[in-house]
Amino acid sequence: MHRIIQAIAFAAEKHRGQRRKDRDASPYINHPIALANVLANEAGIEDESVLVAAVLHDTIEDTDTSEEEMAQLFGQAVVDIVNEVTDDKSLPKAERKRLQIERASQASREAKLVKLADKICNLRDLAGSPPADWSFERKQEYLRWAKAVVDQIRGVHPTLERLFDEAYRLGLLP
Ligand code: NDP
Ligand code: ZN
Repeated sequence: MHRIIQAIAFAAEKHRGQRRKDRDASPYINHPIALANVLANEAGIEDESVLVAAVLHDTIEDTDTSEEEMAQLFGQAVVDIVNEVTDDKSLPKAERKRLQIERASQASREAKLVKLADKICNLRDLAGSPPADWSFERKQEYLRWAKAVVDQIRGVHPTLERLFDEAYRLGLLP
């Protein structure tokens, strides 16, 4: 419990100043907190390392957080999960998207849970508070890609998969 609150405080500080892409430019930290909320309160997941990794999942990709810093505060198990859900930003966008589909099935169970929660939350955002300038087509393209990733990791957590499918159906509505 204390470690999760520590992770929220850490991520809030690291993401301070960052915003989501919705019209209201919501604080970025809402998104990692939403992942932990889905995992803990909608899927009943109690594994503290998974919940901490969910809160920290975008810090290495999108902030100056180093693996060493994270390992010191939260342990190597958390770093390993976060690394598995971190894209290599030196690669072009399209390649990063392709690699997510290709590598999803080889991820650890813990990383798959975080990945599922990430896709659930992003599809919910797409339906409720989408990026301000995205066309219907662009949203559909994102939905198709998210489903292609999730289709590689089915069989890991039926509740999370159901929540994903519900968010996907919501996103298909015009
Ligand atoms: P992304 O597809 O990377 O943007 C989606 C990501 O933004 C999400 O995965 C999420 O990532 C984050 N995000 C922040 N706010 C929101 C929100 N409100 N709702 C949903 N997601 C949110 O877009 P990019 O602009 O980086 O472009 C990447 C790809 O898009 C390219 O590979 C290209 O193929 C394609 N593209 C398509 C176009 C088209 O018109 N069809 C035009 C331009 C590009 P996180 O969880 O990390 O925060
Ligand atoms: Zn994310």
